[in-house]
Amino acid sequence: MNIILYAVPFFFLLIGLELVLEKVRKTQYYRTNDAINSLSAGVLSRMIDIVKALVPLTIYVLIYDNFALFQLTETALVCIAAFVLYDFCYYWNHRLGHEMSLLWAAHVVHHSSEEYNLTTALRQSSSSIFSWVFYLPLALIGIDPIVLISVGSLNLVYQFWVHTRHVPKLGWFEWLFVTPSNHRVHHAQNRAYIDRNYGGVFIIWDRLFGSFQEELDDEPVIFGLRSSLKSWNPLYANLQVYKQLWQDSWHTQSWGDKWRVWFGRTGWRPADVAEVYPIVKTDLTKFEKFDIPLSTFSKIYCLLQHSLTTFIALLLLLNINNLLTYQQIAIVVWVLYASYSTGMIMEKRSVAPWLEWFKHSTLLAAIILIPLPTWLFWSLTIPLAVSMLGAYLLQKSSNQSSQLTSNVIESI
Ligand SMILES: [Zn+2]
Ligand SMILES: [Zn+2]
Repeated sequence: MNIILYAVPFFFLLIGLELVLEKVRKTQYYRTNDAINSLSAGVLSRMIDIVKALVPLTIYVLIYDNFALFQLTETALVCIAAFVLYDFCYYWNHRLGHEMSLLWAAHVVHHSSEEYNLTTALRQSSSSIFSWVFYLPLALIGIDPIVLISVGSLNLVYQFWVHTRHVPKLGWFEWLFVTPSNHRVHHAQNRAYIDRNYGGVFIIWDRLFGSFQEELDDEPVIFGLRSSLKSWNPLYANLQVYKQLWQDSWHTQSWGDKWRVWFGRTGWRPADVAEVYPIVKTDLTKFEKFDIPLSTFSKIYCLLQHSLTTFIALLLLLNINNLLTYQQIAIVVWVLYASYSTGMIMEKRSVAPWLEWFKHSTLLAAIILIPLPTWLFWSLTIPLAVSMLGAYLLQKSSNQSSQLTSNVIESI
């Protein structure tokens, strides 16, 4: 956990570098709405992890304390072995995450971006509740829980840098390690690339277990999902596939299929449901990225809102031990709401300004009612004041544009 938290400044440094390259090389790998959506999903997954990580870790420690087959001391060799074995477990966790519907419902978030840049790496799921099971064999062979957390965090940090289009193939490195090139393949929706390259750090597992695919010069990668998310709501991004599985399970007449919907192969649907409620897959020859154009002012406003939300989420993560449970829950709920609200502005929903006003009011109330250190008071008050002015201008401009639209309709 801490390794990931301390890696955050480096993440943002590298994202900054990628943005500089975007300008220098005149690439179009970034869109404000997509990047905010990726970063919001990352913040949400950290928030939910506060609660979620406790149960799996308790079970891991229980197995380690009572059933471990070996008493391993924490030598460098054991740590290296743990790092490699962790990635082996990660491979199967990730592979099943693609191949079984219930697990795909959680992992889909990471693949929902139609861009591919370093913010995509942070687009993590909030709902993966079964992945910890894949690491229990490490408890059985005696890998200390602290070592597990450390190698798990290092594994996740490694995966950050491979989410870029700026790095080409890397020669011999491609044979052993997960690289930007072979991970681009993993994020593709091209038929030739689907369900390939599951490794986290080492690509050797894919070579061993027949799931490797090289990036091909004559098959440019199209990033994203065959069933596109078409939303900037980070909460919906986490629930999209669960909703569809639930509906399929509800609609099918067969009791066996009601279970098979959840535990069957990803993409499989009961014949009676598929006939009545067909799902249209993206035609890749006519593929268009989901986008809702925003004014520069709206983009700046959304970036400010996202920065303020991330700042508050970081305050929670850094002060987690000094806060009472109800305070932690209140901040988590606020961050979820704030991320949803920013998504609604990016979708240009008419309710969005009102959602924003409610959000600003709750933060204003917190600043007034809770005694805060001076630096924190001003760190929240200044962006809040700017945000309120921004929300006012945003609402004014949206009222004017809707007035304009109704005038045009009336004149017709
Ligand atoms: Zn994946
Ligand atoms: Zn990825």
